[in-house]
Amino acid sequence: MTGSKSSNIPGLYIHIPFCISKCDYCNFYSITDQSKIPEFIECLLEEMTMYKHCFDRFDSVYVGGGTPSILKSQQIEQILEKIRKTFSLFEDSEITCEVNPGGLSLNYLNALRDTGINRLNIGVQSFNRNILTFLGRRHSVPDAIDALENSRKVGFENIGLDLIYGIPGQDVKTWMNDLHEALSFKPEHLSCYQLTLEPDTPLETKYQNGGFSIPDEELYRSFFFITSEIIEKAGYVHYEVSNFARESNLQSRHNQKYWDHTPYLGMGPASHSFFKNKRWWNHRFLDSYISDIKEGTSPVGGEEYLSLHELENETLYLGLRTRKGINLKDFFSRYNYDLLREKKGILNKLIKECLVEIQDDRLYPTLKGLALADSLYLEL
Ligand code: SF4
Repeated sequence: MTGSKSSNIPGLYIHIPFCISKCDYCNFYSITDQSKIPEFIECLLEEMTMYKHCFDRFDSVYVGGGTPSILKSQQIEQILEKIRKTFSLFEDSEITCEVNPGGLSLNYLNALRDTGINRLNIGVQSFNRNILTFLGRRHSVPDAIDALENSRKVGFENIGLDLIYGIPGQDVKTWMNDLHEALSFKPEHLSCYQLTLEPDTPLETKYQNGGFSIPDEELYRSFFFITSEIIEKAGYVHYEVSNFARESNLQSRHNQKYWDHTPYLGMGPASHSFFKNKRWWNHRFLDSYISDIKEGTSPVGGEEYLSLHELENETLYLGLRTRKGINLKDFFSRYNYDLLREKKGILNKLIKECLVEIQDDRLYPTLKGLALADSLYLEL
């Protein structure tokens, strides 16, 4: 079984920019016209060749989107085969594929397993029919249950499940039902996200037009604490604001890299990459991505170099969203900044308010602090 291991080994992300239909809350880049899938795959394989000598070894691969499970299993196999031929993967690499419930037959899931994918992340979002309709999800509750059961049947031993809370009309009891239902499948990993109204999505437009109201801050906080309490009681580790693992070694190895500045390479439209202090990203739109690659040029649409101060701020911001927090010695040696000395006053205040703790050279948020992680960062 794969899981978290602390390292500076890069991760690989592949963005599959296709979905069967668009969910009302989504602002990830994906299109519903599937006619360009073969051309996209051709270009993706070409993009890998462009990076052949830049990154040599990865210990995580994350095939995300979009909806990767819109691809035929042979197409996913083709992508993974090219990854193996072009780069080198550690033997115990965590290889995740996002899948959406609906149409995940035993045959399909079996074939996915045979490609070497060893971790599935299933976009369940809710076990409540009305909530799925509100979110504009295509799948039904029985589809989600089938997806979970079939994934186990074919032998996936590392299954993650995504859920959303804070949905208008959803009360705490309805959310608790979702959590209990999710836990009954004993997933190795659970991500529970608060619904955000992203600009220019149908849901946001509906909200702007007075179509519904959103829960107040207090209700959001109740959702957060109840989520943590119920899932931790079931034996899981609440290791990041929105993420829970059944055991410490089942924390998402790939996502960890985004939070601690480990290098990662993203390929496919709209994907982001990071190395040392450089961040770069591909064109958001499939057509520009394809035309660049066909002309033999890189599909990179932009880049930025982060100053030491910007890296330091990100380390603080991201670290305060995780239970393990910030290693103060590492922080000092990386940024030549003594947080304990420079922020003594504010840290003492936060400790008194039970929002952070300091132990064994680590500054980390308490559960109460985790609920306010973004504002903790602003205070510091
Ligand atoms: S399936 Fe996922 S990526 Fe596709 S529209 Fe829905 S939320 Fe967005």
